[in-house]
Amino acid sequence: MAEDKVIIFDTTLRDGEQSAGAGMTTDEKLQIAHQLDRLGVDVIEAGFAASSPGDFEAVRQIAKEVRRPVIASLARANPADVDKAAEAVKGAEHPRIHVFLSSSDNHLLYQMRKNQEEVLEMAVDNVKRARRYCENVEFSPMDASRTGIEFLLRIVESVIAAGATTVNIPDSVGYAIPEQFGEMIRTIMNKVPNVHKAVISVHCHNDLGLSVANSLAAVRAGARQIEGCINGVGERAGNAALEEVIMGLQTRKDLFGVSNNIDTTQLLATSRLVSDIFGFPVQFNKAIVGANAFRHASGIHQDAIIKERTTFEIMDPASVGWRSNALVLGKLSGRAGLKARLEELGYHLSVEDLNKTFESFKALADKKHEVTDRDLEALMAEQRRESDTTIYKLDLVQVHTGTSEIPTATVRLITSDGKQVSEAATGNGPVDAICKTIAKIVGIEARVDEYSVRSVTAGLDAVGEVTIRLDYQGRMYVGRGADTDILVASAKAHLNAINRLLSIENVVTRAMAAH
Ligand code: MN
Repeated sequence: MAEDKVIIFDTTLRDGEQSAGAGMTTDEKLQIAHQLDRLGVDVIEAGFAASSPGDFEAVRQIAKEVRRPVIASLARANPADVDKAAEAVKGAEHPRIHVFLSSSDNHLLYQMRKNQEEVLEMAVDNVKRARRYCENVEFSPMDASRTGIEFLLRIVESVIAAGATTVNIPDSVGYAIPEQFGEMIRTIMNKVPNVHKAVISVHCHNDLGLSVANSLAAVRAGARQIEGCINGVGERAGNAALEEVIMGLQTRKDLFGVSNNIDTTQLLATSRLVSDIFGFPVQFNKAIVGANAFRHASGIHQDAIIKERTTFEIMDPASVGWRSNALVLGKLSGRAGLKARLEELGYHLSVEDLNKTFESFKALADKKHEVTDRDLEALMAEQRRESDTTIYKLDLVQVHTGTSEIPTATVRLITSDGKQVSEAATGNGPVDAICKTIAKIVGIEARVDEYSVRSVTAGLDAVGEVTIRLDYQGRMYVGRGADTDILVASAKAHLNAINRLLSIENVVTRAMAAH
């Protein structure tokens, strides 16, 4: 008998984007989608087509460009939403429409003001409608873990009869406890007469820190699709972290006895890309992808590890993409060495891009004795941001500061049509002066809500990475910039946030109209 497979469903681009402060441009979503494809996820939920024109466009583009995985769009259980979702995914090689509707008494009473019969009818009608467009239809009774089991069983049976090919049981509010959630899935598997006609899925939130545990308990009970996000991003405390779910299934295959299609060596690269684009740092002690995940500090452990790795390591760090930093590049390294190193890190560049990267690499190696993998990743992230920057590019930044001077910045930007614009302004400190000058040129009133600098590697010559969070009319925009000079990195980060804001909000600034 063929081994059972668990379908890995990634919703970083949909639920993940619902994290407070995580708006993404279509370009950024495409980059994440391509990386998820390399990782080998089975389903990418690319967005919620009816929620905004930007979301619709992102889903449409991903459906067009990313051919191997199933591409899904979320839709509320109403005809207009289902039609929009169908329209957005219709260019996909493997499209899916994902219809959802609340099922708990709490949501029915307070949010929807509908009774169970009305809800059942809406679910069935819209699953049928979705099936007219697409063979692959998923249905989710939202807040399933707080739904009475009798009604839940009825909904699951009815939507399968209406044509749903996957039924997802969401713990939308993160309320479930593993044993009890597993029992709920087991009851569905045992009591729904047509359950074998669909895949049972779970979607767990992390409000009590149990999303991964609940997902794994569900697999033990018969669920064969897990939904989650890279780095556990998502609404509130986030969704089940897919890297943890995947390594849990892999490491304890003896217990789960199921396989999946994931290339685990891509996990770290995927985590870094998502962290970089979201502007959410990964905590040091985070399982699998945190900086300390495979570091041993105790002497007794170190001694044992040297004798035999498995004494204190249940996973091989290389299996999730960590590699030892044996080779360090420097000033004398050539193009071929750089190319080989970048390929090991998962960057496959065209000749033209490699030439460009080689120039930036040489400039960095001039300033910095040793160029490590982390430096290269920061450099690639900087290049990615620069190529995304379609609106304003940083041309020059100069700051005068010191104990007896009023910090003054001069900034020159280049607009997308090649014009130069410069301004000068003073501030409370050099970074403040830079941000005020950029704001003056661009003409956007956005408050700097958060500012942080961290060094990418050790040493005073390290590359500094700046993260800035801008508050624009109550919405958050993250920008990042990297440079050996932290004031230059600050200017790049601020401008990156402004560029992302402009392309997501679609606003035409006074400055853009003026020149
Ligand atoms: Mn969710």
